[in-house]
Amino acid sequence: MTTPAKASSLPSPRQLFVTTALPYANGNFHIGHIMEYIQADIWVRYQRMCGNEVNFVCADDAHGAPIMIAAQKAGVTPRAFVDNIAAGRAQYLDGFHIKFDNWSHTDSEENHVLAKEIYRDLKKAGLIETKSIEQFFDPEALEGKGMFLADRFIKGECPKCGAKDQYGDNCENCGAVYSPTDLKNPYSALSGATPVLKASEHFFFRLSDPRCVEFLEKWTQDGKLQPEVANKVKEWFSTRTNADGSTSTGLGDWDISRDAPYFGIEIPDAPGKYFYVWLDAPVGYLASLKNLLDKRGVDFKAYMANPNLEQYHFIGKDIVTFHTLFWPAMLKFSGRKTPDNIFVHGFLTVNNGEKMSKSRGTGLDPLKYLGLGMNPEWLRYYLATKLSAKNEDIDFNAEDFMLKVNSDLIGKYVNIASRTAGFISKKFDGQLAGGYEDSLQEMQIMSMFADHLSVIKKDIELRDFAKAIRLTMTLADVANSYVNDRAPWAIAKDETKRDELHIVCSFSLVLFRLLTLALKAILPITARQVEAFMKVESLNWDLADELMETKNRIASKSLLSGHAIGEYKHLMQRVDIKQLDALFEAPAVVETAPQAAPDNDSSSSTTIEPLAPEITIDDFSKIDLRIAKIVNCEAVEGSTKLLRLTLDAGEGKTRNVFSGIASHYKPADLIGKHTVMVANLAPRKMKFGISEGMVLAASSADEKSTPGIYVLEPVAGAEPGMRIR
Ligand SMILES: [Zn+2]
Repeated sequence: MTTPAKASSLPSPRQLFVTTALPYANGNFHIGHIMEYIQADIWVRYQRMCGNEVNFVCADDAHGAPIMIAAQKAGVTPRAFVDNIAAGRAQYLDGFHIKFDNWSHTDSEENHVLAKEIYRDLKKAGLIETKSIEQFFDPEALEGKGMFLADRFIKGECPKCGAKDQYGDNCENCGAVYSPTDLKNPYSALSGATPVLKASEHFFFRLSDPRCVEFLEKWTQDGKLQPEVANKVKEWFSTRTNADGSTSTGLGDWDISRDAPYFGIEIPDAPGKYFYVWLDAPVGYLASLKNLLDKRGVDFKAYMANPNLEQYHFIGKDIVTFHTLFWPAMLKFSGRKTPDNIFVHGFLTVNNGEKMSKSRGTGLDPLKYLGLGMNPEWLRYYLATKLSAKNEDIDFNAEDFMLKVNSDLIGKYVNIASRTAGFISKKFDGQLAGGYEDSLQEMQIMSMFADHLSVIKKDIELRDFAKAIRLTMTLADVANSYVNDRAPWAIAKDETKRDELHIVCSFSLVLFRLLTLALKAILPITARQVEAFMKVESLNWDLADELMETKNRIASKSLLSGHAIGEYKHLMQRVDIKQLDALFEAPAVVETAPQAAPDNDSSSSTTIEPLAPEITIDDFSKIDLRIAKIVNCEAVEGSTKLLRLTLDAGEGKTRNVFSGIASHYKPADLIGKHTVMVANLAPRKMKFGISEGMVLAASSADEKSTPGIYVLEPVAGAEPGMRIR
């Protein structure tokens, strides 16, 4: 029997919904966030290059006690606090070419509605119950008013491995998940007080229900998860630690409520009770998607109901429990689509340093990286050489970074075009050769490229970027050997070898285009420049499929026969070791309580500019310093030093201020930020206009040893017009 041929031969594109973990909105991104976003961004760009349709979204995780407390300290509402953090996201994402389709936050209308819907559906399914539990209460918090302590504000020793200073919800050392009351020797991280137990009614998601257990055992062990992740999850089905330190078998129920005061979503029909932030945070994936689809006029429910929709979440290994147990169970038993997979990555260490967890973040400052003018594609490439499909930690090593970028990207990849493209424009009027389809050497190389590209394509699909790059560089070696063997610079001197020169340079560029295809998801900007200079269509993976299919008789189209290209311009600079030195230079340590100056200063490890003569408080109060918002910032035509800032200091009008910081900031870096302005400085007429004030910035007197200018920025919460005293 034969099956009838499908009516349409056009394969319909895959539909993908992809997210990264929601960052907690109490701080800026660190390099660990950037790594995850780059990993997901490469994969999403690859999918689009395969013709698939992707919605790639993320959002700020806005709720929970840490944000509530931080906002209170800053004197602003939690929402204002979150908005301020969110306003700083774009400079990182744009800076590293990370292209989400939408960025929302979990205090959105959509998330409130969806979280409540899911909760109601779980309740209908009989999976929500209430229990009165004893919980830690800090009698000294909130100036003696007292509050129940969120997990993050209770610290103590892990009940499983005994690690000290672990948070109340899970252990960063062994990954155990437990209740705060399970901690040994607990203390309040807010006041330091020993918390007391107080009874309160809590809502639980009954993960121990046999339906949940049966579903999750299958969902986590059916082969979709990475093997090392599935194995870890398996342990949680067999043992868990109880409050008294004993262990039981099976999954425990999950406490999903918190008592007021709490910044979150109020539980329906339960005044004063809020969803625990981890209940509504993953719902934020759906809410951000809905927010995007609403803007496009696409029906969210219909989109999610598509049986062919694939849903993937990229996450770090510290939040596996939430994504492989709670989240799929919440979705399944509220009658919703469950994720197709969870892609887990390890932590990123820097120069073998400390791990970059959500709460800590040191080492490689992403904004400093960009501020030093380092190419974001270098970092994208380097991280890709380290990222495999495994959940394993990776290390950013400065020397390795420089070596990989300089020897691979410049020495192998860019080098092919830079050695051959010039001859095409100078000697052949920008026209590529043709008619070498029967030339054995070239066609053998093409055949090898076709084979390797199809493997590279599969490797990227499987998120083994490291392997894809190794293979790509093998191809780059082959292309370079071809150039070296045929030595265009030598044959160019012999006019009788003009045709050969034409073929060698043309074919090298044909190979260069294919290497660009392999690297395009990683180096989107460079790829665009190559497409422009070679005047070729936007590269996509059809090209590799086509090559594979026609391997034995490669079409002249793939060989770009007779194609006209534009002028080659240098594509990428090498990493300069000075940039790396500056990137990892520790900030200068300045002693805040000056001691009597020693006679001999040479022993001091840091030298700072000598202090100005002493002034009185009256002298100081003559200077009127105000918080100002930088509402606009632009380059000044005719000046390489100055930026023109438009400042709002709450006066009902804006001020025009020129500042000599153009060497260190791009206008986009500063727009929307708050800074400190000298408000009563006499206006100064400058070549480019009148400057009506001055912004404060820090710099070293010795610019050579400590380069840089740093505009002052107040801690979140300061409002335009506030005076600095
Ligand atoms: Zn532990």
